[in-house]
Amino acid sequence: MLSNLFKPVAWAAVGVSMLTFSAVAQAQAGYPGNKPISILVPFAAGGPTDRVARDLAEAMRKAIPGATFTVENVPGAGGTIGPTRLARAAPDGYSLMVHHIGIASTAVLYRKLQYKPLEDFEYLGMINEVPMTLIGKPQLPANTYRDFENYIRANAGKLNLAHAGIGSASHLCGLMWQSAIKANEAMTAIPFNGTAPAMTALIGGQVDVMCDQTTNTTSQIEGGRVKAFAVTTPKRLENNRLLRDYPSLQEMGMRGFNLTIWHGLYAPKGTPAEITKRLNDALKVALKDPEFLKRQEGLGAIVVTDNRVNPAEHKKFVAAEIEKLRPVIEAAKQFAD
Ligand code: ASP
Repeated sequence: MLSNLFKPVAWAAVGVSMLTFSAVAQAQAGYPGNKPISILVPFAAGGPTDRVARDLAEAMRKAIPGATFTVENVPGAGGTIGPTRLARAAPDGYSLMVHHIGIASTAVLYRKLQYKPLEDFEYLGMINEVPMTLIGKPQLPANTYRDFENYIRANAGKLNLAHAGIGSASHLCGLMWQSAIKANEAMTAIPFNGTAPAMTALIGGQVDVMCDQTTNTTSQIEGGRVKAFAVTTPKRLENNRLLRDYPSLQEMGMRGFNLTIWHGLYAPKGTPAEITKRLNDALKVALKDPEFLKRQEGLGAIVVTDNRVNPAEHKKFVAAEIEKLRPVIEAAKQFAD
């Protein structure tokens, strides 16, 4: 009786999986055909992650002749809604995601995530590394890092720190910096859907401080729309024409402070190996595209070389990043549900 009852269900399940299998097999044969490949970005349009994704989409389009790429912004919850969506998308090569260090930091920060960062994705490879800058609204009276830190202390409780949600790079940077200067309570954190809207609020003076990738801050610093105070790399950015005169936080006494944001490309778990290989090969070509390199370099990003575009290497790297970030986040005692 029981087995009879189960029969239709079991056959239905086989039917569904055969359908999925044949849909994927069909997609594989003519991949990508004229169906657009969507690159999901877990933050707002116009911000650093979005910029990397849009530049990459253009370079990937050249690397896969005939392919079309679209970029879809799925912001929210510190960049965790996007990966949740990707983990549930069809593993057919038409859904990809550009994410950053947040894929590692949220693994520690969030007690409950709807996806497993190391299990639910195919790692296609790393894209670039980007330093961060500590910046303030243009109306701040401080012009040097020292004056800035003194100003923060003198105005404890009155200032706002903008970030892109718990788990974002700007949040992580703010957390690390405030705990390094022992001023955890000095500022009220204001979350945005990404650092593009946060930057607008900073330029307008509605928030006071932010830490963000150079890919978003460079033109604003250059245009005098925000003030820069320090960089998050261990040493000054000597090769960066615009930022080379700003001190590193390590130089300012924060021993061991070292935060560089990296970006990577991901697909849902189960995307066929032929397709992930095709995408990985295309990624390697795209990262050598002269226009892509020029744009990234101009924004202070360092595009990685082939050995880091390796899926297995990138996954190993993310696993190591999770372990590296664990004590930092635990020390700051900030978790989210
Ligand atoms: N830079 C942002 C972050 O802080 C995200 C973004 O808007 O790209 O993670």
